[in-house]
Amino acid sequence: MSETRDVVVLGTGCAGLTAAVYAARANLKPLVLDGHEAGGQLSLTTEVENFPGFPQGILGPELIQNMRQQAGRFGAEYRTGAATAADLSKRPFRITIDEKTDILSKTLIIASGASARMLGLPSEKRLLGHGVSTCATCDGFFFRDKEIIVIGGGDSAMEEATFLTKFARRVTVVHRRDHLRASKIMQDRARKNPKIVFVWDSTVDEVLGEGKVEGARLRNLKTGAVTTVKVDGMFVAIGHIPNTRIFEGQLEMDKTGYIITRGGSATSVPGVFAAGDCQDHVYRQAITAAGSGCMAAIDAERFLEAQGH
Ligand code: NAP
Repeated sequence: MSETRDVVVLGTGCAGLTAAVYAARANLKPLVLDGHEAGGQLSLTTEVENFPGFPQGILGPELIQNMRQQAGRFGAEYRTGAATAADLSKRPFRITIDEKTDILSKTLIIASGASARMLGLPSEKRLLGHGVSTCATCDGFFFRDKEIIVIGGGDSAMEEATFLTKFARRVTVVHRRDHLRASKIMQDRARKNPKIVFVWDSTVDEVLGEGKVEGARLRNLKTGAVTTVKVDGMFVAIGHIPNTRIFEGQLEMDKTGYIITRGGSATSVPGVFAAGDCQDHVYRQAITAAGSGCMAAIDAERFLEAQGH
C-alpha cells in the first residue's frame, strides 16, 4: 500500500522550501522531495545580496539551508529522490520517486524549477559561481568596472547584457549566428548601448582561469579562427528549461513547457499548484519564487479545507 499524504512538495529551491514552511506551519506535515538539483539554483550561486532581510548579503547555499531547517522545525519531512512519473488523472495523485516508490497525495505543489541551459563545457561547470553566472540580476554587482562576455542572442542575452553595463566596463555579446533572435526593441536597446559590442558567428570553446574566470577561448564558426579574450566574467543566457517534463499532457503549459497558473498558484488540475521558476520565466528571482511558494501552500491548505480536511 502506498502512503497517502496531504501535501507533497516537489523541489527544495526557494519556492519549494517556502511552500514547505507554510504547509508545515499549517500542520499539513508536507513531504518534500529534493529533486534532481537539491536546493535549486540558489545552491549554485555564491553571494545573494538582494534577498530582503540580509543587509550584509548571504551565501545562496546558506540561505537554502536556513529555509530547510526552518520548514523542518515545523514538521516538514524531506526525502531525497526525484519525481520520475506522476498520475494527476485522479485524486489522490500518484507520484513515483526514482522510478521505484509510489506515494499518493491529496494535493501537490510543483516547485521543480527551471534549469539554466548551459554550453556544456567542463571549464564552464568548474567556474560556475566563480565568474561564470546564469543570472545578471544576482551577480552583476560583483563585476564593477570589469570585462564581461554574455553568451546568447535572445531577449535574455540582450536584457542581461544591457543590465550588466550598469556595472561592467565593457560587455561583449557572443552569438553563434550573425542574426539576433531577440525582439527588435531589446536588440535596439543593446545595439545603441556604447558599452556593448558584438562578436558574431562564434561560440566559446573553453573558459580560462583556475580559481576564477580570467578569459575565454572563442571560435568563429564560419572561419574556424580561434581567439582568446581576457574577461572577468561570463554570463550564459541561452535559455532555461523548466523541469516539467513528467507533467506534459497532464497540465496546461505554454509552448516552452512552463506550467500555466491562474488565480494565484492553481494549475489546470484542481489540487495541483505550481510555484517558482517552473511557472515563471519572467521574474525568476529567489524572492518571487519564495512568494509564489507561500501562495501555493496557502492555496493547497484552502483546497484541503474546502474538501472537508
Ligand atoms: P531564447 O529566445 O530561446 O534564446 C536563446 C538564445 O541562445 C538564442 O539566440 C540561441 O541561438 C542561443 N543558444 C541556444 N543554445 C545555444 C548554445 N548551445 N550555444 C550557443 N548559443 C545558444 O531564450 P531566452 O532569451 O532566454 O528567452 C526565452 C523567452 O523569454 C523568449 O520568449 C523571450 O522573448 C522571453 N524573454 C523576454 C524578456 C523580456 O521581454 N524582457 C526577457 C527575457 C526573456 P539561436 O538564435 O542561434 O537559436
